[in-house]
Formats: sequence, structure tokens, C-alpha cells
Amino acid sequence: MTDRGLRPVTELDGVGPQVASRLKALGITRELDLLFHRPLRYEDRTRIVPMGRVRPETRVQVQGRVVHQEVVQRRRRMLMVTLADDSGEITLRFFRFYPSQLRMYKEGNRVRCFGDVRFGPQGFEMAHPQTQVLGKGAPPPLPEHLTAIYPVTQGLAQATLAKLVDGVVGRLLAGAIRLADPLGPEASPPLDESLRIIHRPGPGEDLDALVDGHHPAVQRVASEELLAHHLALTRLNLARARQEACELRPDEALQERLLGIVGFQPTGAQTRVIAEIMADLERRRPMRRLLQGDVGSGKTLVAAFALLAAAASGRQAAIVAPTEILAEQHFNTLSAWFEPLGIEPVWLAGKVKGRARREALERLAGDASVAIGTHALFQEGVAFRDLALIVVDEQHRFGVHQRLALAAKGSAGTRSPHQLVMTATPIPRTLAMTTYAGLDVSVIDELPPGRKPVTTVAISQGRREAIIDRLRRALAEGRQAYWVCPLIEESEVLEAQAAESTAEELSAALPEFRVGLIHGRMKPAEKQAVMEAFNGGRTELLVATTVIEVGVDVPNASLMMIENAERLGLSQLHQLRGRVGRGSEQAACVLLYKPPLGETAQKRLEVMRETTDGFIIAEKDLELRGPGEVLGTRQTGMMRFRVADLARDAELLEPVKTLAARLDVAGADVIIERWLGGAEQFVDV
Ligand code: ADP
Ligand code: MG
Repeated sequence: MTDRGLRPVTELDGVGPQVASRLKALGITRELDLLFHRPLRYEDRTRIVPMGRVRPETRVQVQGRVVHQEVVQRRRRMLMVTLADDSGEITLRFFRFYPSQLRMYKEGNRVRCFGDVRFGPQGFEMAHPQTQVLGKGAPPPLPEHLTAIYPVTQGLAQATLAKLVDGVVGRLLAGAIRLADPLGPEASPPLDESLRIIHRPGPGEDLDALVDGHHPAVQRVASEELLAHHLALTRLNLARARQEACELRPDEALQERLLGIVGFQPTGAQTRVIAEIMADLERRRPMRRLLQGDVGSGKTLVAAFALLAAAASGRQAAIVAPTEILAEQHFNTLSAWFEPLGIEPVWLAGKVKGRARREALERLAGDASVAIGTHALFQEGVAFRDLALIVVDEQHRFGVHQRLALAAKGSAGTRSPHQLVMTATPIPRTLAMTTYAGLDVSVIDELPPGRKPVTTVAISQGRREAIIDRLRRALAEGRQAYWVCPLIEESEVLEAQAAESTAEELSAALPEFRVGLIHGRMKPAEKQAVMEAFNGGRTELLVATTVIEVGVDVPNASLMMIENAERLGLSQLHQLRGRVGRGSEQAACVLLYKPPLGETAQKRLEVMRETTDGFIIAEKDLELRGPGEVLGTRQTGMMRFRVADLARDAELLEPVKTLAARLDVAGADVIIERWLGGAEQFVDV
């Protein structure tokens, strides 16, 4: 039993390298992914509305003859066209136009127009409609189904994507693609029928239900997606149940000494979480635990206790971070904590080359007990003597491939290392169960004493000068500040350019202060130097891209400006804001936005102003993220759904378990492959 007739998108007509790379940004690499790409909304082009019957504030299609054309001079030139049919007239208004449009709307021409109807000075009108000029003969037939409008991304036109999806749906309906149906006739409507309804609904279909996802066709597809995840997780859990791990015994005397060096007492939440982890480490089953704690909640100390248990047991532990900046910071913090205990961590990152690398590798294969670094720690050629514990910080930046590679580095063959995954991305309670099925969860739900919530304001970019004044005053008081320049596109080049020019602008505006600059295109050594200068107070202002999003800890920095805040998702804003408010100083965050604000952006900024609680923010994030919104998926991270939405589909989870129990291995294979086969970011456990 398999799906047949499916090709990679690169084999489809019209997909060159450029389109392929844009599709990939949307998670589309296979024809299946096109089928699972759900429309944002639909347009009804199946009917022509008589002009005498159009209503304001609707989106309709009309067809008629041009009876008048005029270029009027108001504040600027405008093209006005009057269109008539048997029932009445309508005005088309163009605020910008080309000579070709003058020809297109020549008096006497027959046209078909689609657009928003408004009530204007001369009756009903449409601004800039989409137009098709009709020839002399019979007009082209109207489509029989509604037109789907898909989520796209920059550099990929709606028409291009719609045509690709339409081609695949056509092949599915014509039988050239055959989807196996392991769920059998009880799952209704059948998968291909559901996909047809989703992409080509008839005029009678319940569009609201299709768009919000309560339609049976969407629910059918969503349950299959949830089923795929459920099956994959069950398999991982089974495999895991057969694994063994080394027991690690914490050493209380060492723990006491560590606290003496660290210089603060753990919070109640840290103490509880540490106890949960120690209990896991003492077992012979590999720990698979997620440590969730809001930004600034003190996860590093918890990690240090875990690492210490491995070292005290004579085995090895590694902590890996997704960026060099973060890894470096861990290295500095943990070295300072561990060295007085006689534990000298090994540092390994991509930039460690030559002799330093050889020495690091020797120590990993030899007597070292703690390793700190980036994913370079689990690349080819790195061998551990006896790796018994892996701590992964800020998990949402890691792909599953890296995680699997890391797990494979475990102590000789049969033994599997304990794993502790730390994340600051709070998982809404609705999601926690499924997202991390198979992981035990510990939560640090308390911040260290003395923290004051960061005050947050949203200010229009138009008041930039006032903001720079405010910044000047703060810096003059001896505070340090971040100025973050994020871009919507994930182009490091553009982002770096934006940060560079902002740094120049701010240096010129604030000549009395020293301005640092950090972005993803700098060499690791440069980044390190910039971070050290900022940390040591030698620069007062740090202009940065989102490279500082996670983990960066400079307690004296108490002011953060975030540009283009309207473009960022809630969790990303929360992460960025978490860089301040780590010291005793009252911290502030300024969200700079470009008006006008869309409804969702406005709500997001409101949420940021109202709360600093990561859980509330995560719940709101889930609410506000529309089905088609691509923004923010990277941050939500853990598990990406194409069609399913746990906030909406929670009731599907129980039935999904029943379905899973009915499937045989071959059937399960089909479902897993169909939904997760092409995904780079498999189930991230
Ligand atoms: P995160 O959970 O974001 O990784 P960190 O581990 O970086 O947080 O801790 C944030 C800051 O709080 C650090 O400067 C750390 O030293 C400090 N900190 C952590 N735990 C405590 C505590 N129990 N009491 C006081 N300060 C603490
Ligand atoms: Mg951290």
C-alpha cells in the first residue's frame, strides 16, 4: 500500500530553482505538500452579478461594456471608466494607470472585472479591479468552483502557486495520482474528496467553515495529520522503551560547593525541577525531559546541576546551544562555576580549528567530563569517551537531524544518553500534552527574586527622534541598551545591511556614546569581541539583528528598542524583550512600528504591553496566528502542523488514538510517510 504518481515539485512545469526555493520556504517540496497547502480564503468567480444588483462592501464579478472613459485631474491624474450591462452601471477608478490600461478600457470594449464594491460619489464603484478583456465571440466559461487564495511568501506570486496546486489537484481528480486509503471507508469524506472540497469548493459549500477549519473536509485532513504525528511518536516511544542508560549519582557535597560559588540560592521552582531531574538521572532508563522556563527564569543553574551529576559519576556530559554567542556565554558562565570544583569544561565550536581542535577532541575522548559548544560537538569525527548526558539549550532552534546525530553519540552502542531539552518557549497548556508526547515536562514557574516586569510601550516609527532622545537620556544615566533591527524575510544579508545602516545612523545621532554592532554575517571571533565589549560596558549601545534573540544575558542592559515590531510574532517579541530586565534596574522595552497597523499586529502589540507572562503570551500567540500566517511558525517550532490546529482540533485527539489502534504497520507507514516523509523538521523529540 503506497501513494502513487507523486513527484517532487522540482519536476513540475514552471518550477525552476527560484520558485523551488520559495516553495521550500513554505515547506513545500513534494506534490503532497501542495495538496496539503490550505487556502486562506476563497473568491467567487463562478457567477456574474448584474450591476444593478451589486451591494457595497462585497467582492463580486461583473461583466459589461465600457461606455465612457475619462482621465480626470484631481490632486493627481485618475482614470475613471464607466461600465454598463443590461441592469445598470458601475464606475471603475484607477489612482495609477498605464497607457495599456487606456487601451484596455477603450469605449466599446467588453470586460469582466472582479473586485471590491464601494459606494462612491457616482454610485457603486470598484478601485483597481482584476480585469479580463473579452473578445467578440462568446465570453469564456465561468469556473465551476470557487477560486482558492493561498498563503504565499515574498518572491512567489499567488498565480504561480495557485497554478501549481491546481495542476496537482487536477491530476489527483483525474486519477493520475492515487492516494492510498489505509483508514478505509469509515473515515469520511475520503481524503481525495476532502482535498477537492478544500481546493475547489462548489458555490454551495460552507466557506466560513472551510476557512476557519470546522468543515468536515478540513477536519478529515486534520485528523489524518494528527494521526501521522501520533503514530510517529508512538514509534519513537517504543524504540526508546528498549534503551538503557547509565545511572548518574549526584554528589551533595559538590552541589553545596557549586551554590557557594554561584552566589545565590535557587528559587523554589529551580529546587523542585532539579530534584525531578536528579530522580531521572538515577534511573537506568534514559531521561527524556523538557525543561520549560520563561526567559530569565534561571535554566542555566538547573543545567549546571545535571552536568555536575554526570561529572561526579565519572562520566561525561555535553551542553549544546544553537548559536556560538549562546554557547560561548554558557562556556564563560559554566567555566567560572566549575573550575573552582576542579572541572575544566572543553570548548568546541565550528571556529575551533587546528591544534585547539585536536586538543579538544583528545580531551573528549579522554578525561574531560563536561563539554560545551555548538552542534560542532556532534559532527563527524567527534568521539566521546563516555557521554551519559546531553543538555540541549533553546531547543526550538534545533532540527531533529542534529538531535538524532547527537543521540547516536551516546556511550558505546547499547546505552543511550540522558537528554534534557531546555526551552524558553512556553508551550500553551493545550499543546503541551501532544507536542511533547513522550517527553516528561518540568516547568520553572517562578522568576528569581527582585525582578521587576519590563515596562513596554509601542511607538510609531514617525517619532524616531523622540525615541533617540529618550535613548540618549538612558545611556547618560549609565544604562545600556539594545537596538534590534529585525526583517521579515529571513535574509541574513538584508538584515545585516539594515543593522549596519542603523548603527551608522545611531552613531551619528549619539556621538558621545560608543555603539556596537552584531549580526549573523560576522565572523565568530568578531561577534565574540562585540559581545565582550558590551558585556564589559565598553560599548553602551548594541545594535543587533535577531541573533541576540535567545539566551544572551547582559544584566546591565535595561532598555530595548525593537524596530519593525509589527512584523514579529509574539513569541519572538517575548524572546527579544527577555534580554532586558535581568538586573535589578527597572527595564523598558520600546516597540517601534510602522503605521498603519493591521488588526493582528495591533493585538500583538497590545498583548506585549499588557503582560510579560510567557504562558499568556503563548496562548495569545496561538489565538492570533491565523491558519495561513507563516510568520511565527519558526518560533513556535516544536511541531508544525499544516492543516491541524491544536487550539481548534483538540477534540480530534481521542478519535485519532482509536484510528491509530486500527491501523496495521503498512497502513501506519503510509500515513507517516505522507505527512512527515518530506518534512525536514520531523517530530522534534
Ligand atoms: P534563562 O532561563 O533565560 O536561561 P539564566 O539561566 O540565564 O536564565 O538566568 C538569568 C539570570 O538570573 C542570570 O543572570 C542568572 O545568574 C540569574 N539567576 C538565576 N537563578 C537565580 C536565582 N535563584 N537567584 C538570583 N539570580 C538568579
Ligand atoms: Mg538561557
